[in-house]
Amino acid sequence: MSYDAISLTKSLIQCPSVTPSDAGCLDILTKALTDAGFQCREINRGETKNLWAKIGASQPSILFCGHVDVVPAGSAPWKFPPFEPTESEGYLYGRGAQDMKTSDAAFTAAACRFVLEYPNFNGSISFLITSDEEGDGRDGTKFALEALMKTEEAPMCCIVGEPSCSVKLGDTIKNGRRGSLNGKLILKGIQGHVAYPEKVKNPIHMVGPLISRLSSEVWDEGFGPFPPTSFQISNIHAGTGAVNVVPPVCEITFNIRYNPAHTAKSLEEKIESICRGLGLDYSVAWQESAEPFFAQGTFLTSRLSKAITAVTGIEPVLSTSGGTSDGRFVKNWCPDIVEFGPTNDRIHKIDERVELSQISDLAEIYYQTLRNIFLDQTHE
Ligand SMILES: [Zn+2]
Repeated sequence: MSYDAISLTKSLIQCPSVTPSDAGCLDILTKALTDAGFQCREINRGETKNLWAKIGASQPSILFCGHVDVVPAGSAPWKFPPFEPTESEGYLYGRGAQDMKTSDAAFTAAACRFVLEYPNFNGSISFLITSDEEGDGRDGTKFALEALMKTEEAPMCCIVGEPSCSVKLGDTIKNGRRGSLNGKLILKGIQGHVAYPEKVKNPIHMVGPLISRLSSEVWDEGFGPFPPTSFQISNIHAGTGAVNVVPPVCEITFNIRYNPAHTAKSLEEKIESICRGLGLDYSVAWQESAEPFFAQGTFLTSRLSKAITAVTGIEPVLSTSGGTSDGRFVKNWCPDIVEFGPTNDRIHKIDERVELSQISDLAEIYYQTLRNIFLDQTHE
């Protein structure tokens, strides 16, 4: 049996798997992996499906994390129907082509090829593929990992197949992501008539010193390859609409993108201490949307980089830019974690597409990475 990454990608795009539906994608992957000897089981909750597949039991071990769900096609017209994979001028069009059915198919093809060629390899390869990454993720990777951590040995390293490259396949490995913390701060004053300043306390007037303090704060000078932590206010709301009323409260919402020099808790304490220092009467609701991660060690990056250069001739750069991914959950179990997948110029857009050559090259890169992990012991 041959495992062709391009035809597997097409089969996955054919499934209209808008979050949290997998629309049959996991059955397709289960079939391919089972045929190659993987043990597969689903860890499902609610409408979300999560596939766990594994072969081998010893070390070294690698986990591939992926998602088969996609964002909706949207209302704007597409050049080709979004769930009918179509080849045109060297590209494969379809929703999920970059984010991230190509990676799911390429890693599946690579792993099946590897275990058929080397049935007695020492080590283990596992997959965790969810149908809830583009949504709130509550029942997806986070939930499945919590179940798996109780019984499964932690893998040595993990590739998340998110589209990491910016211009050419191979140009970027993401070896970390910043954390994200949201806060909704309510400054409390005393409402009253503007003509009686002695009887009111204007919360809008307290905003000035607070904003100047928070926006000029130097949180850090950066951390390794991470840029400095950044604080941004996204909304300020106050006022009753009347010109002669001092409002009772002023609400400020903000976000902090932070590097591993901080934790959400340390930032929360710092901001609350600034508020207290200014003598403010306030309350704040925190929403910790993602913790940062940073790949620990070079075991995986050295082997993946070598494979990338062998296939594409490109020396990948290591980057920590971009938003959040399911890597934020995996790092608690497996700290040597990177993201590597195709280019990301069309993700979530209309006419999402991937270069056909990237699909087969990505499968070759993943395959050679497996060889570098399991067969070539000369890296240390
Ligand atoms: Zn994605």
